[in-house]
Amino acid sequence: MTAGWSVVLDNFSPFVIAGPLTFVFHELVYFGAWVPWLVLDQIPYFNKYKIQPEKKADGAMVAKCLKRLLLSHVFIQLPMQLLFHWVAQFLGFSMALPLPPVRDLAWQLPAFFVIEDFYFYWIHRALHHKSVYKYVHKIHHEHTHPFGIAAEYAHPVETFFLGIGTLLGPLFFAKHMVTLWAWLFVRLWETVEDHSGYDLPWNPTNFIPFWGGAVHHDFHHKTFQGPYSSIFTWCDWAFGTDKMFRAQQKKLRDGKEGAYPAQFRGAPNFEALERERAKAKVA
Ligand SMILES: [Zn+2]
Ligand SMILES: [Zn+2]
Repeated sequence: MTAGWSVVLDNFSPFVIAGPLTFVFHELVYFGAWVPWLVLDQIPYFNKYKIQPEKKADGAMVAKCLKRLLLSHVFIQLPMQLLFHWVAQFLGFSMALPLPPVRDLAWQLPAFFVIEDFYFYWIHRALHHKSVYKYVHKIHHEHTHPFGIAAEYAHPVETFFLGIGTLLGPLFFAKHMVTLWAWLFVRLWETVEDHSGYDLPWNPTNFIPFWGGAVHHDFHHKTFQGPYSSIFTWCDWAFGTDKMFRAQQKKLRDGKEGAYPAQFRGAPNFEALERERAKAKVA
């Protein structure tokens, strides 16, 4: 890692690292995080782990999404990264060696998730207020069955305000550019997975307590109702915005309910759907 970062330092100025290089890093991680889900789409076996197995994104949808992403990445995210760079410089952010110790990342990354989750919950909930929804957040909800890269498909105002949430944690607690890159890496994987449309029972994130995962956020895209959090389940539980989601999950499991939120992971969507169809036939 140290050798890799010294190559970066030797070849690029701090401005290039903070701007264009961070932009390229973001693009590689964001689209790279989509690849595993694209592969699953090609293998029929995995259809049973799709949250909405009967739905599939078509080519026109993906092309439209790519076009908007390109515009918002260049004209909103890149200027925000530069702005962050100047603010971070003012706050004493470093790019120099040595790299931040792993023990710092071990508490900072979870802390950034908690900070962003709380911020995201309230901004997202506000975006659903009827006086603003149709002007801004409606665009993100064009996808009722999201696919990986639909994560950042949004109105520029939304990209800006939610982007602040991503930078909040690093701004307060990080002291190094590599910490920001590490954070971008995990946060981008998380949000792409959130929109992947898949709920894999052996996904390692299933072991993270209170992790919402794709099943949590997919329900929001399908129904336009809560839950509003994108990372953890606790805000929706505490503020009572996940009642419909919990009821639906209970129904999918034939009324069985375990310890919240563990029972919502590895959803048996395919089996549940088959059961629903069989019941409908009998009726
Ligand atoms: Zn929403
Ligand atoms: Zn979404």
